[in-house]
Amino acid sequence: MTALAATRPKTVAAASFIEKRPLERYIAPAKPSLVGFSRAALAQVLAAVGVPERQQRMRAQQIWQGLYVRGAQSFAELTTLSKDLRAALAERWTLARPEIAAEQISVDGTRKWLLRLPGEFGGPPHEVECVYIPDTDRGTLCLSSQVGCTLNCSFCHTGTQRLVRNLTAGEIVGQVMLARDRLGDFSVVAFGDKRLISNIVMMGMGEPLYNFEAVRDGLDIVADGDGLSISKRRITLSTSGVVPNIGRAGAEIGAMLAVSLHAVTDELRDELVPLNRKYPLRDLLDACRNYPGLSNARRITFEYVMLRGVNDSPADARALVRLLKGIPAKINLIPFNPWPGSQYECSDWKQIEKFSEIVFNAGYASPVRTPRGRDILAACGQLKSATEKLSARERLALRAMALTD
Ligand code: SAH
Ligand code: SF4
Repeated sequence: MTALAATRPKTVAAASFIEKRPLERYIAPAKPSLVGFSRAALAQVLAAVGVPERQQRMRAQQIWQGLYVRGAQSFAELTTLSKDLRAALAERWTLARPEIAAEQISVDGTRKWLLRLPGEFGGPPHEVECVYIPDTDRGTLCLSSQVGCTLNCSFCHTGTQRLVRNLTAGEIVGQVMLARDRLGDFSVVAFGDKRLISNIVMMGMGEPLYNFEAVRDGLDIVADGDGLSISKRRITLSTSGVVPNIGRAGAEIGAMLAVSLHAVTDELRDELVPLNRKYPLRDLLDACRNYPGLSNARRITFEYVMLRGVNDSPADARALVRLLKGIPAKINLIPFNPWPGSQYECSDWKQIEKFSEIVFNAGYASPVRTPRGRDILAACGQLKSATEKLSARERLALRAMALTD
């Protein structure tokens, strides 16, 4: 048991996370990491280092468990493998997580990690953010799916950053791994205690349905019952409305769905969520109605950001109720989180209450999401890393250099 594990707090109380521990040293993955590999891909890795075919499945399972159940950070910790095999693997691979460039801890216990990921063709590193939000009854980890976002929702900070790239499945799983490392959450087995990270939301940077395969494959590993074991019922994927991929998400990913609605007319939604011009409200709501597995026990969450004087009138609330008629739904009202240069203001508290009451009286659960981590710009829509897209010329130059290396 490590010293970190021994000091692990026993409950999910916000106050217990305010103490700051020194960052572990993460080594940038000069060699590729096995984090995010499926069992089949691990078997191929084993074949490549000469493990006979009849042993590959068993050895792959030993790596899987060491990595995802015990949180091994180096091959030396995989003691169920022979010394020679560990050495052979370590020559070519690592078990590295994304590198943590900075950690901030909010007064409310929310933690934000700035992660440094390898750049394209050995170019400047890319950065994304990942946020942990402790609560009394749960701990939620908010994952990023892309560096930046191609969509330019007018109220979202991430949208002001040009897309740099999609994350890989390994980088998605890696966020869960590093959060468990930092919180001492892998040691929970030793304590027989509740895990600190109980829920996952794909609500960080990026549009997850525009990085479909990596999100699907990454979440399959996160949900694997013999590994990280965070069930799909506790994973929520939020989309701004990529209609063609909504049904596919239900069939192939099977997580809970959240839809960023934010407006009840196409006119306003075109402005707030420009993707609406491509997939208008009617198409979006049809896709929601047909979402596989939808029932009263498995509702879609509709997110609605409260913008003062823009979408927050009682008439908007009534129109919202009419719009969602017949769809098993929850409505999540999100107070707008400002960011430097944003053009909107958050609705007054009274206005939010009035809105919430109308929605509640129509029979919908309508929790208002308490903003968390605002002081460290970790709340919804405040994430933005410094990474900007390389110009076409810079990319070509880097690629040419990589090819001639
Ligand atoms: N791209 C996906 C998921 C990431 S955004 C999506 O748009 O759904 C996660 C949630 O935060 C979305 O509901 C988004 O609309 C909301 N959001 C974005 N900017 C915000 C802000 N400044 N204040 C409050 N919520 C915001
Ligand atoms: Fe992208 Fe979601 Fe932000 Fe819109 S709200 S810009 S889809 S991250």
